[in-house]
Amino acid sequence: MEKNTHQFQTEVRQLLDIVIHAFYSDREVFVRELVSNASDALEKLRLRQLTESAVHEPERDLRISITTDEEAHTLCIQDAGIGMTQDEVVEYLGTIAHSGTKKFLEAMKESQGGAQDLIGQFGVGFYSVFMAADKVEVTTRSWQPEAKAVKWTSDGQEGYELEEAPADTPRGTSILIHLKEDAQIFSRAEHVRYVLNKYSNFVGFPIDFNGEHLNTVQAIWMKNKKDVTAEEYEGFFKFISHSEEAPLTHMHFSADAPIVLNALLYVPTENPEAMGFGRCEPEVSLYCRKVLIDSKPEKLLPEWLRFLVGVVDSEDLPLNISREMLQDNSLLRKISGIITNRFIKHLEGLAKTEPESYEKFWATFSRYIKEGVVTSWEHKAQLGKLLRFQSTFTEEGKLTSLADYVGRMKENQKDIYVLYGPNRSQLEHSPYLDALKARGFEVLFLMDGGDQFVMDALMKFDDKDIKSIDRADLELPEVADATPDAPCLEAAEAEGLATWVGDTFKDRFSKVSTSDRVTSAPAIALQGAGDVAPEVRAYLKAMGQEVPESHPEIAFNPRNPVVMKLAELRKTDTELATLLADQLVNTALLRAGMLEDPSTLAENSQQLLEKLLAR
Ligand code: ADP
Ligand code: MG
Repeated sequence: MEKNTHQFQTEVRQLLDIVIHAFYSDREVFVRELVSNASDALEKLRLRQLTESAVHEPERDLRISITTDEEAHTLCIQDAGIGMTQDEVVEYLGTIAHSGTKKFLEAMKESQGGAQDLIGQFGVGFYSVFMAADKVEVTTRSWQPEAKAVKWTSDGQEGYELEEAPADTPRGTSILIHLKEDAQIFSRAEHVRYVLNKYSNFVGFPIDFNGEHLNTVQAIWMKNKKDVTAEEYEGFFKFISHSEEAPLTHMHFSADAPIVLNALLYVPTENPEAMGFGRCEPEVSLYCRKVLIDSKPEKLLPEWLRFLVGVVDSEDLPLNISREMLQDNSLLRKISGIITNRFIKHLEGLAKTEPESYEKFWATFSRYIKEGVVTSWEHKAQLGKLLRFQSTFTEEGKLTSLADYVGRMKENQKDIYVLYGPNRSQLEHSPYLDALKARGFEVLFLMDGGDQFVMDALMKFDDKDIKSIDRADLELPEVADATPDAPCLEAAEAEGLATWVGDTFKDRFSKVSTSDRVTSAPAIALQGAGDVAPEVRAYLKAMGQEVPESHPEIAFNPRNPVVMKLAELRKTDTELATLLADQLVNTALLRAGMLEDPSTLAENSQQLLEKLLAR
């Protein structure tokens, strides 16, 4: 092969431009990135050795060698891993193949500036080497017996050069880094040793540093909890998540039956989907006896747990399991069930022992838990215990669990009551609360988009039905009239009014009545018994699906002066009474989120005002 020049993909050039020019205080992360690539390459080779018959240089030790040369101002990181063929070099070291790097670029476009923070957050993989290098030489030979060795050289500007490497190049990859003038500290043995010591014990392969053995290889997830320190837990998280931040919480557990299982799972501090990038990929790797089988198995955990980072190791898995087999494997499903259960229990425990950590968890990850309620039928009851809401009994911003709510339920209270709305102040002024307040019942405020789906899926908690208080079929116990002497429509008048409104707006309402469910407004609109909740209706509509017709009910407040006036007016001035009634029912529908076309309300108001002023 002739030596030839290749251009970097445009995105790579953009990325390199940022990486090279960013003043980045933690630039030592590039060492971690390269060591982690070396370790990945060795993991992949180890698995190949178990599953393929022919591997180049099968007897070669699986280790990483790192050497510094202070005089030449170089650092070299070498591994005996799977290496790369020429095509692979072009793909992996010439384009953006790595998802973390893609995210980094997207995040850069979102935020103006701030590259340094972002580099720390995502790790930009191989290309981070150009934070410290003005020239990099990668010499690599694939594990495949016939593959030729290649050499890739670049200054991290426009492109790179490819040429054939000597035939005796050993299997694996060697990265020779020529350091920039201001980065020459990375050719000093003490400094590199210091950097490597931070995480080298989490690398699953021996590291030789300037000919000396450096690390103790240990899979901390296989160890006994008692033998792992807090620093080790944190260090391992930083290593596998490529991040500089400590995790929010971790769960470490092992089981012997029914499946031999070791798992170490972390919740990061930040929501990986927060900054507007799409769904994150699963970051829990699957091992069998410390051998990595799949670093991003799709079906290992349910989707709603995709924010977790960590390791699951089971010696019951066959080592030669293929990705396809992983997709549909009953053992994997069992493992998934066990871990999911344990993790939910871990969170329940966290809520009890470290309420502040749980609050933080909830503030960041609540939507994943809610997604779990909607999508994980078998776990939803358990997940119900993790939900938190504000309520009529909590202070603004404070949250309660469903269990605590149930603990406060009144003796004559059968159901759990909820009310949906955009914010607390709107909910606090809702006339639907009147009847519940009169009975001293607590109502949960559900203010997140999607909450109606969550509650529809949950349906019950602790055997108690969850009921939205804007529904017509709410069954409330009788309550003594708090103001028996206040003026009120006579029973016959009330019935006459209800019948008249029903007839006037033929077919619009399934029922019109007067009721003590409303005391603070003239009227409320209630969802009919079989009606689809407003949020679900809006969703169906947005999805272009057919929205089932709704049949709201109207309940008038027989003590409201406007309603009392309406009862008279309908006998003397039908036209004005109709306008007034229209105004009252439309306002009620609007508050209930059930008014299809708000402009009718505006038009009607105008007519009503004109008519009143002309009197
Ligand atoms: P990531 O490791 O997240 O995939 P990187 O940017 O660190 O992203 O590396 C890009 C790709 O380059 C890797 O996925 C791998 O295929 C290849 N690669 C990098 N370093 C090595 C290495 N030492 N041995 C073999 N392949 C490597
Ligand atoms: Mg990498």
